[in-house]
Amino acid sequence: MQQANMLNEFKLIIGGQLCSGEQGELEIINPATGLTAARCAKASVEQVNQAVSAAKQASKAWQMVSHDERKSILNKIADGIEKHAEMLAELVVLEQGKPLALAQMEVQGAIGWTRYAAAMDLPVEIIEDSEAKRIERHRQPLGVVASITPWNWPLMIAVWHIMPALRAGNVVISKPSEYTPLSTLRLCEIIQQEVPAGVISIVVGAGEIGEALSSHPDVQKVVFTGSTRTGQRIMTGAAQQLKHLTLELGGNDAGIVLPDANIDEIAAKIFNTAFLNAGQTCAALKRLYVHESQYDALSQKLADIANAQIVGDGMESSTTFGPVQNQMQYNKVKALIAEAIEQGAKALSGQQQLPEQGYFIAPTILTEVSESCRVVQEEQFGPVLPILKYTDINDAIARANDSEFGLGGSIWSSDIKAAQVYATQLQCGTVWVNTHAEVLPHAPFGGWKMSGLGAEFGLEGLLENTIGQTLHISKV
Ligand code: NDP
Repeated sequence: MQQANMLNEFKLIIGGQLCSGEQGELEIINPATGLTAARCAKASVEQVNQAVSAAKQASKAWQMVSHDERKSILNKIADGIEKHAEMLAELVVLEQGKPLALAQMEVQGAIGWTRYAAAMDLPVEIIEDSEAKRIERHRQPLGVVASITPWNWPLMIAVWHIMPALRAGNVVISKPSEYTPLSTLRLCEIIQQEVPAGVISIVVGAGEIGEALSSHPDVQKVVFTGSTRTGQRIMTGAAQQLKHLTLELGGNDAGIVLPDANIDEIAAKIFNTAFLNAGQTCAALKRLYVHESQYDALSQKLADIANAQIVGDGMESSTTFGPVQNQMQYNKVKALIAEAIEQGAKALSGQQQLPEQGYFIAPTILTEVSESCRVVQEEQFGPVLPILKYTDINDAIARANDSEFGLGGSIWSSDIKAAQVYATQLQCGTVWVNTHAEVLPHAPFGGWKMSGLGAEFGLEGLLENTIGQTLHISKV
């Protein structure tokens, strides 16, 4: 990779070439200062069309590359990410805001997921093998995959989309969020070192690029992580060509603490999962239901942990809690907190001194919150946790399930068997016992209801990048 300096030129990749943007440049804001941190190329719709055309051309040869060769290429890409790990982590902090240690974890996750995709095999299912015939079910690549990624975990989610798609023999066009394109641009440069021209492309823009890409007739699949509303628009656009879709959308995950839970043991775990990445994680715990017998004590423990956070620039070594990523999200979360307090909620934390510039919100624990408040009903996607009281577990489960979302949910208890029974009553794609928001390369992850379509990770995730083909061989 040619780069004297981490912030040297951020260009698009189209047909294997680094290109300037025909729409000029986008300013990338550092959320810890609210100031411009870098500029990157801004693509035109014509450049999206060029990227699709180059990708389509490259797809023919890439599909013929052997599985072993593609595995080896993915491992070389993982080596490249490893080599540039520190630079990538610093870019993530600069554009996204999270503390450096968390950004380093994000880079390690990107390496781990890439190596996992490299190691996976596509199975051939033997349907029949008789004297008369043999029938096999194979998996073929789809062609051109469009990956549209969000601003919360920009590097890792790009890897989640791109690596299984490449492993299965597809070519990919990445469209990162206009708020956080920098680490994805560098990731694609690393990938470009290892693959033929057109196998990976990246276009960045705001307002029209995503739709131009997802609705392009030569794109066979769209994988999108982001809001439900945009997921619905993508699905509508995909109907024309019956494109394949994987949609990982919003969530409003509930956690339920049973009366027997050891709150000394679980308080820190709950805090870390609710406030992971300043709450900007699709599967973060977003509503906490606590049995009345432990409500006050656990709320206070969580508030103590929140008040102990050092909120600041992710590059400062003392920082434990970063800013919200962008102004829109900052305004949204501030409004949700203010509205809840107006409606009678109490903020047990959130009083610490904040830096004067940047999109900082202290981690906020809300108690005495009404169930109908927007901070409970909607996905806050920020550093606030409403805590709700319950008396009867069946009522708590009904309230947890009373949501349009169904991404994840958790039960916290000392009795694993009882917790498991309640966990399976939660209407969501992943349920956890005594943990939450834990995602792993080998465990399929996807949402129910308005939280998404399909799954990522594991064999199930890999298969979403393929189409089935049944082979009949007559033996007589
Ligand atoms: P969105 O989820 O609305 O996604 C915006 C991205 O989608 C942009 O890259 C945009 O590209 C692209 N896009 C828009 N329309 C289409 C289309 N028809 N086809 C393809 N791509 C399209 O993100 P926001 O940043 O606006 O966040 C809104 C809310 O979403 C947040 O407040 C948060 O609650 C939630 N969110 C959830 C995330 C999750 O992980 N589940 C992650 C981030 C946000 P272009 O600009 O070119 O149109």
